[in-house]
Amino acid sequence: AIDPKFEENRDVADEHEDHRVWGPVDEPEQLGIHGTHVAVDFDICIADGACLEDCPVDVFEWVDTPDHPESEIKADPVKEEQCIDCMLCVDVCPVDAIDVDPG
Ligand code: SF4
Repeated sequence: AIDPKFEENRDVADEHEDHRVWGPVDEPEQLGIHGTHVAVDFDICIADGACLEDCPVDVFEWVDTPDHPESEIKADPVKEEQCIDCMLCVDVCPVDAIDVDPG
Protein backbone atom coordinates (compact mmCIF):
# COMPACT_ATOMS: atom_id res chain seq x y z
CA ALA A 1 0.00 0.00 0.00
CA ILE A 2 0.98 3.64 -0.47
CA ASP A 3 2.90 5.13 2.47
CA PRO A 4 0.49 7.66 4.09
CA LYS A 5 3.53 9.54 5.42
CA PHE A 6 5.15 9.85 1.99
CA GLU A 7 5.55 13.61 2.41
CA GLU A 8 7.87 12.99 5.37
CA ASN A 9 9.59 9.94 3.97
CA ARG A 10 10.22 11.03 0.37
CA ASP A 11 11.60 14.03 -1.48
CA VAL A 12 10.09 15.85 -4.43
CA ALA A 13 11.89 14.52 -7.50
CA ASP A 14 9.98 16.21 -10.29
CA GLU A 15 6.88 18.08 -11.40
CA HIS A 16 4.46 16.56 -13.91
CA GLU A 17 1.17 18.05 -15.24
CA ASP A 18 1.27 20.67 -12.43
CA HIS A 19 1.61 18.12 -9.62
CA ARG A 20 4.55 16.92 -7.62
CA VAL A 21 6.33 13.61 -8.13
CA TRP A 22 7.75 12.14 -4.92
CA GLY A 23 10.85 10.03 -5.51
CA PRO A 24 12.80 7.98 -5.84
CA VAL A 25 12.31 7.93 -9.60
CA ASP A 26 14.35 5.71 -11.91
CA GLU A 27 12.46 5.40 -15.19
CA PRO A 28 11.04 3.23 -16.57
CA GLU A 29 11.01 0.78 -13.64
CA GLN A 30 10.55 3.19 -10.72
CA LEU A 31 8.11 6.09 -11.08
CA GLY A 32 7.43 7.36 -7.56
CA ILE A 33 4.24 8.89 -6.14
CA HIS A 34 2.30 11.35 -8.32
CA GLY A 35 0.31 14.12 -6.63
CA THR A 36 0.12 15.40 -3.07
CA HIS A 37 -3.51 16.00 -2.05
CA VAL A 38 -4.50 13.08 -4.28
CA ALA A 39 -1.43 10.85 -4.31
CA VAL A 40 -1.06 7.77 -6.51
CA ASP A 41 1.87 5.43 -5.99
CA PHE A 42 2.71 4.63 -9.61
CA ASP A 43 4.92 1.76 -8.47
CA ILE A 44 1.87 0.02 -6.93
CA CYS A 45 -0.80 1.02 -9.53
CA ILE A 46 -1.89 -1.92 -11.71
CA ALA A 47 -4.14 0.19 -13.99
CA ASP A 48 -7.35 -1.33 -12.61
CA GLY A 49 -9.25 1.83 -13.60
CA ALA A 50 -11.85 1.92 -10.82
CA CYS A 51 -10.62 5.36 -9.70
CA LEU A 52 -11.08 6.81 -13.19
CA GLU A 53 -14.57 5.35 -13.45
CA ASP A 54 -15.74 6.33 -9.97
CA CYS A 55 -14.25 9.77 -9.36
CA PRO A 56 -17.20 12.20 -9.57
CA VAL A 57 -15.03 15.13 -10.67
CA ASP A 58 -12.66 13.34 -13.09
CA VAL A 59 -9.42 13.94 -11.24
CA PHE A 60 -7.62 11.09 -13.02
CA GLU A 61 -6.37 10.56 -16.55
CA TRP A 62 -4.41 7.64 -17.98
CA VAL A 63 -0.74 8.27 -18.66
CA ASP A 64 1.49 5.89 -20.61
CA THR A 65 4.26 4.24 -18.60
CA PRO A 66 5.88 1.76 -20.98
CA ASP A 67 8.11 -0.91 -19.43
CA HIS A 68 6.90 -0.38 -15.88
CA PRO A 69 6.73 -3.83 -14.22
CA GLU A 70 3.19 -3.42 -12.75
CA SER A 71 1.35 -1.83 -15.71
CA GLU A 72 2.00 0.17 -18.88
CA ILE A 73 -0.54 2.89 -18.03
CA LYS A 74 -1.16 4.69 -14.71
CA ALA A 75 -3.99 6.73 -13.20
CA ASP A 76 -2.48 10.21 -13.04
CA PRO A 77 -4.17 12.75 -10.66
CA VAL A 78 -3.96 15.56 -13.23
CA LYS A 79 -6.79 17.57 -11.64
CA GLU A 80 -6.07 16.92 -7.98
CA GLU A 81 -7.12 20.47 -7.07
CA GLN A 82 -10.71 19.55 -8.08
CA CYS A 83 -10.91 16.73 -5.52
CA ILE A 84 -13.94 16.90 -3.19
CA ASP A 85 -12.56 14.39 -0.67
CA CYS A 86 -15.27 11.80 -1.25
CA MET A 87 -12.67 9.03 -0.72
CA LEU A 88 -14.24 6.77 -3.36
CA CYS A 89 -10.95 6.25 -5.18
CA VAL A 90 -9.21 5.26 -1.95
CA ASP A 91 -11.96 2.74 -1.20
CA VAL A 92 -12.12 1.15 -4.67
CA CYS A 93 -8.41 0.81 -5.43
CA PRO A 94 -7.68 -2.94 -5.25
CA VAL A 95 -4.01 -2.42 -4.40
CA ASP A 96 -4.30 0.61 -2.05
CA ALA A 97 -2.20 2.78 -4.34
CA ILE A 98 -4.07 6.03 -3.54
CA ASP A 99 -3.89 8.36 -0.53
CA VAL A 100 -6.24 11.36 -0.22
CA ASP A 101 -5.64 13.85 2.58
CA PRO A 102 -8.79 15.85 3.39
CA GLY A 103 -8.26 19.37 4.62
FE1 SF4 B 1 -12.03 11.87 -6.95
FE2 SF4 B 1 -13.19 11.44 -4.58
FE3 SF4 B 1 -10.77 10.41 -5.09
FE4 SF4 B 1 -11.04 13.04 -4.73
S1 SF4 B 1 -11.41 11.44 -3.18
S2 SF4 B 1 -9.86 12.04 -6.37
S3 SF4 B 1 -13.06 13.41 -5.65
S4 SF4 B 1 -12.70 9.88 -6.14
